[in-house]
Amino acid sequence: MHVPTFIERKRDGAAHPSAEIQEFIRGFTTGEIPEYQAAAWAMAVFFQGLTPVETSHLTRAMMNSGSVLRYPPGTPPKVDKHSTGGVGDTVSLILAPLLACDDLWVPMISGRGLGITGGTLDKLESIPGFNVSLSEEQAMAQLARLGVVMIGQTGDICPADKKLYALRDVTATVTSQPLIVASIMSKKLAESLDRLVLDVKFGSGAFMKTREEGASLAAALCAVGGEMGLQVSHLLTPMDEPLGWAAGNALEVAGAVACLRGGGPPDMVGLTLDLAEKVATVPRETLARWLHDGTAWKKFVAMVEAQGGDATALERITEIHRAPIIHDFPAPQAGQLARLDAGCIGRACVALGAGRTKASDAIDFAVGCDAFKKVGVKVERGETLLRVHARSENSLQAVLPLLEAAVTIT
Ligand code: URA
Repeated sequence: MHVPTFIERKRDGAAHPSAEIQEFIRGFTTGEIPEYQAAAWAMAVFFQGLTPVETSHLTRAMMNSGSVLRYPPGTPPKVDKHSTGGVGDTVSLILAPLLACDDLWVPMISGRGLGITGGTLDKLESIPGFNVSLSEEQAMAQLARLGVVMIGQTGDICPADKKLYALRDVTATVTSQPLIVASIMSKKLAESLDRLVLDVKFGSGAFMKTREEGASLAAALCAVGGEMGLQVSHLLTPMDEPLGWAAGNALEVAGAVACLRGGGPPDMVGLTLDLAEKVATVPRETLARWLHDGTAWKKFVAMVEAQGGDATALERITEIHRAPIIHDFPAPQAGQLARLDAGCIGRACVALGAGRTKASDAIDFAVGCDAFKKVGVKVERGETLLRVHARSENSLQAVLPLLEAAVTIT
């Protein structure tokens, strides 16, 4: 393959034949095609796009760049959900064990947080001992025993995506829609699912800022999944204010625990049920009952224990990870809370140390914000709108302007 001609074809707006995309991904994965050529191609795609057919070919090539999960015959349907990422979104921790109660298998492969989007793996790792790095064999054994496993992307799954994503991250090509679609769907298709539900977020705290952008991404994701034999459904959900009560790793685990114990923030419980019913076999009422009667909680505890986590830590996770400074952030005036901007809150949490600005950054599990007032409520002047959990006085002072900018009271 003559790579400059391949790049030129996309640069000039022509379409790639399937074999060419396959050869490019193979060469890029093995290292035969250097990163500078892949970067040039990614930028050409950023400007010229890919047709739906090219996007499917790219997705398939990336999926086949590594191992694809195989299940023993006669095992239950495999289901999963993917969220395009938001602030305070801990749905995965609730939804995965909940769906496993429905005698489904949930082989959930998640990512780490990057930018203002929190990562399921980071949240899970705030549970002392929890191991997200199981081998494929261990994951299969746990699925057979419990029906749910929550792990990170192994080295064997979609290595092409791992490489291409890292390259996109440093070449300003992350936001290319066809590249996002191929990246997300290649990993989900490598899980060999029967049904997938997508939570495509839009708003200030999401990748996609407008509903139209979100709808376009959702349509493209569903088209590729459908073409490859996967039953895909989706929800388009707003991410203008944080979901739930908290943003930050241990703080969010506490929120998930509350939901699994039958309480928790109503918006989080509602979204979990909205998504779960898209792939479950039982009706919503049954799923809601399993959250209330301890069935989903028992499954979660069993999963935590199976993956080496200390389940006795779950209900005191915010004591185990307790930031030295907990600051009540007051309403500057009385009135109705009209806006609590998820983008600003997310950036504040990253600045406090709850997230990463680059992949190698360490995470501080204790820090973040919680006790969010929800948009629409009436507040008095000086009433607490949220609490800031900070490691130091300096980091607290650094985020106060961001939090001030997050709030509108009318
Ligand atoms: N999540 C992914 O896995 N890949 C993308 O490209 C964007 C979000």
